[in-house]
Amino acid sequence: MFKKILIANRGEIACRIIKTAKKMKIKTVAVFSDADRYAEHVRLADEAAYIGLSPASDSYLRADLIIKACKEKKCDALHPGYGFLSENSSFAESLSKAGITFIGPSKSAIASMGDKIESKKIAKSANVNTVPGHIGIIKNKNDAIKIADEIGYPVMIKASAGGGGKGMRIAFSSDQVEDNFERASSEALKSFGDKRIFIEKFITEPRHIEIQVLADNFGNVIYLGERECSIQRRNQKVIEEAPSPFLDEQTRKKMGEQAIQLSKKVGYTSAGTVEFIVDKDKNFYFLEMNTRLQVEHPVTELITGIDLVEQMIKIAYGKKLEISQKDVLLNGSAIETRIYAENPYKNFLPSIGRLTKYHPPKETKHSDGTITRNDTGVREGDEVSIFYDPMIAKLCSWGKTRALSINRMESALDNFSLEGIDHNISFLSAILANKRFKSGDISTAFVDEEFKEGFQGLIPNNKFEWTLGSLILAYHICEISKNFEIFEKDKISDEWEVHLHYPQPSKYPSKFKFRINKDNLNLPFVNIKPLPDQKLNGLNDKFSKIEVDQDFIKKLVTFKINSQDRLTEPQKIQCRVKNKNTNIEFEYRGITISASLFPKHIADYLKYMKPIKVIDKSNLLVCPMPGKLIKILVKQNQIIEEGQSLCVVEAMKMENTLVAPKQCIINKINFKEGDTLSVDQIIMEFSFK
Ligand code: ADP
Ligand code: ADP
Ligand code: MG
Repeated sequence: MFKKILIANRGEIACRIIKTAKKMKIKTVAVFSDADRYAEHVRLADEAAYIGLSPASDSYLRADLIIKACKEKKCDALHPGYGFLSENSSFAESLSKAGITFIGPSKSAIASMGDKIESKKIAKSANVNTVPGHIGIIKNKNDAIKIADEIGYPVMIKASAGGGGKGMRIAFSSDQVEDNFERASSEALKSFGDKRIFIEKFITEPRHIEIQVLADNFGNVIYLGERECSIQRRNQKVIEEAPSPFLDEQTRKKMGEQAIQLSKKVGYTSAGTVEFIVDKDKNFYFLEMNTRLQVEHPVTELITGIDLVEQMIKIAYGKKLEISQKDVLLNGSAIETRIYAENPYKNFLPSIGRLTKYHPPKETKHSDGTITRNDTGVREGDEVSIFYDPMIAKLCSWGKTRALSINRMESALDNFSLEGIDHNISFLSAILANKRFKSGDISTAFVDEEFKEGFQGLIPNNKFEWTLGSLILAYHICEISKNFEIFEKDKISDEWEVHLHYPQPSKYPSKFKFRINKDNLNLPFVNIKPLPDQKLNGLNDKFSKIEVDQDFIKKLVTFKINSQDRLTEPQKIQCRVKNKNTNIEFEYRGITISASLFPKHIADYLKYMKPIKVIDKSNLLVCPMPGKLIKILVKQNQIIEEGQSLCVVEAMKMENTLVAPKQCIINKINFKEGDTLSVDQIIMEFSFK
């Protein structure tokens, strides 16, 4: 077996690969840039090599420096992970020239599958179903319109070199083809250095279902079932699962066999993924083949029990596959949610900063048989920087059935404690809580359809609002009681008003009045009931006993609500709670609340208080995140329409276009292209007519 391998990657995937290498008793070498000097993957590896500056183009994408590190550290093989150089055929070639084994497919397989037009041609010749369309380069706008008319609308205009969800546009009419063709091709040139465009039919409301294959150097190819990746945002995967709740055994087999046909046609070796889109009638069409380890590979590992990284290493070493198709059994159901450093309430704006808290749920097999797995590359205290992509962890669950796996994921998300940066956990929880998701009725349009106005947090129904209001009050009583030397009940008011604010601008604060039972106050138990002089909507006004259990390290609070009849189990609710000045911020399964609490003697005077004047910043374009101003799209004194793009700020591998909130005139532009911006800097000032 290999003695030592270098992992040409960072973050969770580098850590993931190191784990398997350790299990196989292979020594590991990490590579790192300036920003990653103290990163988790460097700490986990046996050795580490410095390869350059923080921007990926000066380090993780520098084939020459990585090969030099391999030689210096005397590595006999290299695992590329995903992204970076993993699908770069000339890198694979340079490695083999240097006598280092590339743990992945051959350079020719990478090259032919890396190009979408080329790979579709090969797929067609291997009798694989391809999306109806024109398999060839489209020269100009007029050709594009002609071809799109022939295919029939809607169509998808795609960059042949595209990847990572970039370089795709939908057109519903020839006008839209005209508009989009040139933009798509200039975008493709900019992002991928290759402006070739092709057009295929846009399949409406499809599912994205992909087949995992494994192939050795002796012509053995097997498939390890499928992964459903239909939960996407802007063509990028957010939640994946295996198996797909949609496929039947017969379709699975047909898709698996076509994936094998394609792999054989290109002489594929190593682990690879053949992506398909599947329509409502279970017709499936080849999209592309990813010639690398896929981000969402853990769900396949969980249902097959096969370690894909181990298989890749063995295959690269020249071993024969020990598993045959009949050994591949799909057991139970696994789900992966991608935890990103981004703010779902601000249109998923990437977020950076220091992880002042980072406590993922424990990786374990639970007493009910379910499993929690968390693939991560960060520790508490680490910094999430602008240089790399914002994924910080992949949280996975496994259960005997899909329902059990969903339950496990929901509580695993509840148990994930993260502070210092914005994160998307409440968005993920909201998807898991969604009825359509639970029933398995999903498509790639799911996120757009279910969150039409973008994500604004879930709103509890009235009965659950009462419950949440009482929990927040119980928590507050426990908190304020800490301020007394010896707990003096008399100092605590027994009547309270709780105001709940939601991120939705249209939702006015909901107000609730409660009484606490001070005679029976035995912390951390608080007895609370609603006051009768309000609309209770059928809620009874008996006391419920709430137990407040605070985990001070994880900053999570578990409430146990004893039901009135005491016959049923207490209801358990676990949430993230933050004290913020006068407010309490509270997060539970997609619901985000900012609560203010007033004892009666203050609540009575609230009506005399002037509302706080909000400073109007609507005439300023404020930089939402640190990054680089890469493009200014407007000029001083220009008249701008609502929603028009003003400038582009690049951070975390993503380009964020900032748009005009209303029709306006640009008065002043404070920066120039290429400038570095920090949060809240005023990029432009405008006035409204
Ligand atoms: P998967 O199908 O495994 O989710 P993606 O296509 O989303 O894979 O990409 C996997 C990784 O590679 C991600 O980190 C993504 O950001 C990166 N990636 C893929 N294509 C590109 C590209 N053309 N440019 C930059 N990064 C890319
Ligand atoms: P990438 O290389 O960026 O991963 P893909 O070709 O795999 O690009 O497409 C990414 C996603 O875009 C798919 O998962 C699917 O949701 C959507 N998509 C791509 N092509 C089509 C199509 N022809 N019809 C409908 N959706 C599509
Ligand atoms: Mg893809």
